[in-house]
Formats: sequence, structure tokens, C-alpha cells
Amino acid sequence: MEIVVQVLVDGASDDLTFSYTVPEGMSILAGQRVRIPLRNRTAIGTVISVKEQDTSQLNYRLKPIAGQVSEDPFLTPGLMELASWISSFYLTPIESVFRTMLPKPSRGDSEKRKTEKAVALSDKFKPAELDSFTGRQVKQREVLEFLLANGVESLAKLTGEHGFSRSSIKALEDKGFAVIKERVVTRDPLAEVEYVESKPLTLNPEQAEVLERVQQSAKAIEAGGKVKPILLYGVTGSGKTEVYLQAIQKAIDEGKGAIVLVPEIALTPQTADRFKKRFAKIKDQVAILHSNLSEGERHDEWRKVLEQKARIVIGARSAIFSPVANLGLIVVDEEHENSYKQDISPRYQARDIAVVRGHLEKCPVLLGSATPSLETWNNAQNDKYELTRMSQRIDDRKMPLIRIIDMRQEARKTQSGPTILSHKLRQAMEERLANGEQTILFLNRRGFAKNILCPECGYVANCRHCSTTMTLHRKEDRLICHICGFSQLPPRSCPECSSKSIVNAGYGTERVEEVLRQVFDRARIARVDTDAMRRKNQLRDTLSEFRAKKIDILIGTQMIAKGLHFPNVTLVGILNADVGLHIPDIRAGERTFQLLTQVAGRAGRGELEGEVVVQTYTPHHPSIQFARHHDFEGFAEQELQMRRQFGHPPYLHLVLITARSVHQQRAEFSLKTLHARLAKGLPEDMRLTEPLPSPLVKSHDQWRYQVILKATSARKLAAHVRKVMNDLTFPSDVIVTVDMDPYSMG
Ligand code: ADP
Ligand code: ZN
Ligand code: ZN
Repeated sequence: MEIVVQVLVDGASDDLTFSYTVPEGMSILAGQRVRIPLRNRTAIGTVISVKEQDTSQLNYRLKPIAGQVSEDPFLTPGLMELASWISSFYLTPIESVFRTMLPKPSRGDSEKRKTEKAVALSDKFKPAELDSFTGRQVKQREVLEFLLANGVESLAKLTGEHGFSRSSIKALEDKGFAVIKERVVTRDPLAEVEYVESKPLTLNPEQAEVLERVQQSAKAIEAGGKVKPILLYGVTGSGKTEVYLQAIQKAIDEGKGAIVLVPEIALTPQTADRFKKRFAKIKDQVAILHSNLSEGERHDEWRKVLEQKARIVIGARSAIFSPVANLGLIVVDEEHENSYKQDISPRYQARDIAVVRGHLEKCPVLLGSATPSLETWNNAQNDKYELTRMSQRIDDRKMPLIRIIDMRQEARKTQSGPTILSHKLRQAMEERLANGEQTILFLNRRGFAKNILCPECGYVANCRHCSTTMTLHRKEDRLICHICGFSQLPPRSCPECSSKSIVNAGYGTERVEEVLRQVFDRARIARVDTDAMRRKNQLRDTLSEFRAKKIDILIGTQMIAKGLHFPNVTLVGILNADVGLHIPDIRAGERTFQLLTQVAGRAGRGELEGEVVVQTYTPHHPSIQFARHHDFEGFAEQELQMRRQFGHPPYLHLVLITARSVHQQRAEFSLKTLHARLAKGLPEDMRLTEPLPSPLVKSHDQWRYQVILKATSARKLAAHVRKVMNDLTFPSDVIVTVDMDPYSMG
């Protein structure tokens, strides 16, 4: 009998594995990364399984593994199982799922870790020897004393901030008293930040009830029972975060770990701080994975988790793959957020993955939102998920008053240019300035003008690489495509008819900022969008200035829409609620409702009451009317009814299949071929759309065509698509992508 391991080679497009033996003295575990001989080269792969086997019967000899990438497995058994689930559900090779689960520096043929030179005392050195260092050697003595007191220290620090000379250290090395060695450096992005511990608050009855339900769920699992994921439907400001914090504390008390998913970017600084503060005493056990980390920092945080030094992980989407052992809780904050869906392969939905992982690793899953996704809400209605509610704001604070302003009427009053501020909003802002209160203005479009056009001939500046208009950014004086990033100088006259009367149509945050500076010339104004927040920590700094009331008006994109908590903000203005309402997307109405509710939720979170002014050209749209009345359930009911009628999610699963190519005909032809194959033998309970150009037919110079396949069962959908795809090959310049449960309809 011999130990035989199955290895999945990196880059494999199917799930074929190879068998190898294990050399004497090497111990190999499933999930480990190894080097293997493959034909005439050495390849890297992941060990899928390890078993004992009688190899004497084989009519060929198995080769031994060539080496280990590292001594510990990078993937836990739970993650391996999860990867196989993802691979079959999202129609992705398992190998690419493995890759997604690992931080980049650990994917190669060796784990790339940052090292530095460090100086330590050798065994030869005895403290008694200090006295022999006299006269000109006193400098060396100081180094020795320092190392005695502080232990090992980095060479760079010794010669840098501690001011010792390289020659003193060299002399000690020559005498054999000090040794210089390479050591792994762990970067802690928050090492410098001091956190004051925040004590748990006394929960109100609604919060206590939710915490209790999570506890019961954990107990039921302990007792071997099956439990459902728990939806915490709690209005904005109802204290959901406090519930998460205390639920995590309980998991930690039980000796377990926890993962908290938060949406991308902006939410992270403030939310992360709340977690770091609560767990200040065990700060080192908290790993934070946010998008601003460098690759190395991210890798270090991941290592901390892998080595079980960190037990609490807070991060965006991919944090769901953290190798936390012994999971006691998974929290998905703002579970409705679109950023949980990854829009490149593997196109997974992290919230759904959280539910699956909780199921596989037997831990409670808590999904929280003030505006649950209709998928989750429907699951709660159907008793697949357990529903808990928190319907009151903390201290019975009122929900903000929402006013709807009909911009069609306002536009009639405006003489020239776009109407940016309605009379009502302007007045409300003036009041806030007079009272020393703060205002947040929200507009989900960056740049100065949405596009530029010629009123004489109808010319519009389009991107030459995409089927979309270019946005004017005035400070840079460039037209920029928000799809591909292509930019060019704005024309001074119309390229078609030479007319000089080219106009800036529509507006973005940059233009709003300019208008605000004119209208409120005394106010302190800051803009938050990806253009204005380029510098590292700039967002964090701006938000802390805002908190310190050094800014009166904050204008921003979705970067400021969610999760922020500023007690002195009493007014929120939504400048154009219609952005996003008319895009071809089955979730457009839902997204608008969520956005309005979330943005509105930033107002009145302190002692003072909040007010929200919503400017819109479609004041009677259900998304706007239900948001106005803080009526999530009403919205969900009518929207679900419509989704049922049209066969949209959550009633049916969709697969979006797109063919793209720089050659228009090839993309179209490939897609039509694929469509024909899908149609042949289409199971009765499946529906297939006609092959059509994608809504964004050209993007990054590639033409895109698509079909959508629908069915109640995702598994059956996947099976049909897999069968068809396996039998088809496409020209090398055509890329076909398959998106299960798509969020963007292309
Ligand atoms: P949500 O996440 O539901 O929008 P938060 O968790 O941000 O709400 O809570 C809003 C505010 O109420 C925060 O300042 C939080 O510290 C405070 N808070 C939460 N729970 C309590 C409590 N039980 N007692 C007092 N204050 C609380
Ligand atoms: Zn023209
Ligand atoms: Zn473009």
C-alpha cells in the first residue's frame, strides 16, 4: 500500500486529476498546493484527495510529487467542498474557483512573502560580555543593549529610526555576537491606528429577540438539527450592526470564528472601525479585507486567518472564501447589495455562497438589510429563511420625512441649463446652513456633463470603442467613456457640422459641486466620488472631517449612499432619482427603491429629525412612491407580483449567455449557432429567448450578442447549458460567457 494523491493541475479547463505518490518524509494533505512532474515540465496543482492505494497492480508507475508550495494546505475541507458546489452551479471549472479562493501571492509556484533582514543576538553572546565593550566600542554596546531589551529587530529599523550605524552591527556580526537573518514581514495596515474599546450596548427588546434567534439557531445546529438562514429585516438605524457585534462575540466565546461580509468600498472604513473598536482587546484576531489593501497586505491578512491567528474576518465579496476554521457565524450585511455578485468568472453571488457555506460548515447565517433583495424576501415568505424584524429606529427616532419634488414643474421655471436644485431643496439647505446642521446630496453620476451634443445637427459624442456616450470631465478637460475608460479632448465645435453651439447635456457630481459653490459661497463643500477620492485614505479622511463638522455639504455618488452614520445630518437630497430607473434591467425598479431608502436612511440618525428631498421626473413611479412611505413590504408585494407575471427572478432562474468578438458577424453567428443547439431538445419547462444584440452591443471594441434561458431549477438549467457547451467549439476570437443568475443584463 502506498499513499496516492489526486492533483488538479492549475489552468485545467476540466476537472481531470492526475495521481502521484508521496516521497518518503513528506506529508501531504488535501487542499495543499504542490509541484508535480507533468510530461516534460513541472506544473503546480492542488491536492484534491489523499488515499492509500495498492499500486502494485497498476501497469504503469506513478511519479512522486516534486515538492510542496507550502507546508500547510491553503484550502480547508469546507472550502474544497464549497468550490465543487460553485463549480457546478456557476458552470465554472473548479480550478478557477480554487484560484478565486486564494490571494494572488499564494497562487504561484512558491508563496510570495515579503521578507526583511533582521538582527538577533547569537547564542555566543552572554550579557556579561557587555562590559568588555568600552571606549570606541560603546556604540556596539548600545546595539547589544537594545537587542537585549527588545529582542529581534529589523535591520532597516535599527539603522533607521533607532540611529545605529551599519558598521557597529557589522562589527558585532564579525565577532559572532549578532546574526542577520531573513524573516517574513507581516504588514498590518491598521497597526498605527489606536482603537478605543467600545462596550456592548444594552439591547432593546427587538434586538435581543434577533440575537436570541441566532443563538437558538446555533444551539439547534449543535444538537444536530438543520436550520434556516435568518433574515434580519431591520429599518435603517434600527441597530443591526450592534446585533451583529454581539452575535459575533457569542461565537468567539464559544471558541469559534466568524465572517462578516460588507458591500464594496465606501462602507468599509466606518463599518470596519466599529468592528475593530468592539474587538479592540483582541484586535489582532480581526482580519479586515478591503479593496484598498495592497496585494501583500491582503495576503498577510489571509495568512493570519489560515494560521488561525485571526478568527473574525470582515470583508467584501471574496471574504466569503476566508479559510476560517470552525465557523460559528456568517453575517451578510446589506444582503441586497449588488456588489455581492461578481461580474467576472466565476460569476458567483457571495450572499448565496454564504448560505451554502453555512449549510456545508454547519453554522448560522444572518442576512441583514433594511431593503432585502426580492430573492431573500421571497425565501422568507416561503419559509425557506427565518424572518426576524426590527421595525423601530434606536430610541424610537422617527423615520425621516420624505418629500417628492416633481422636476417637470421645476424645469418649466428654469431659464437655461439643467435644473439641478429645486427651489424646495435649496431652501432646505439654506436652513441647515443657518442651523449648523449638515446636508448630504446624492447623485449617482460622476463627471461634469452626462454627454455633449450639438443642437443644430443632433451629433452626440460617442465612445469609439463602445456603444455609449462619453461623459465630460471638466477639471481634466476630457471626454471619458465610463465603460472602457477611453478619453479624448472635447471638441470645441461640432465635428459633424462645425457649429460652435455644442452643449453640455445633463449633469454629474462635478457640475453639482460647481453650482453649489456658486449658490452657497460660504458653505464648506466636499465631493466624494472616484474622481475626487483618488488618494489612499482620502475617503476616510473626508468622512472624518465631515463627522467633525468641518464640512457642511457632502455631494457624492453611491460611495456615500450606504451605511454611513452621521448624527448631525438632517437633510438628504437625492438630485435625480430617475438615474437608473430606465435602464434595461429587470432589477431597475428594485435598485431604485433600495437606493432611495438607503440614502434617505442617512438622514435623522441623531437626536435631530431628518428630512429627505427627492427630485424626480417620474414622481408617480412605484419605486419612488413606496420609498416615500417607507413601505418596503408594499413595494415587495407589487414588484413580486410583476416578476411572477413576467417570469422573472426570483420565480425563475436565468442564465445569460453572451458571445463577444471584435468581429461583429462572428459574435452574432456563434451566438446563433449556440441558440440553435440550445433550442434543440430544450426541456419543456425551460424557456429560451431569441438571439439578440446585448443592450450594450459594443463594449471595449467587442460586439456582443446574447440569449437568456429560464427555468425554475438552476440545476436543470446548468445541466442543459453544460451539455450543449461541451459539444460546441467556437472560433478562437469569439468568447462565450455563461452567467447564472445574472445581475447585469449586458
Ligand atoms: P443600522 O445598521 O440598523 O442602520 P446601526 O447599527 O448603525 O443601525 O445603529 C444606529 C445607531 O444606534 C448607532 O449609533 C448605534 O451605536 C446605536 N445603537 C444601536 N443599538 C443600540 C442600543 N441597544 N442602545 C443604544 N444605542 C444603540
Ligand atoms: Zn452639429
Ligand atoms: Zn468606451
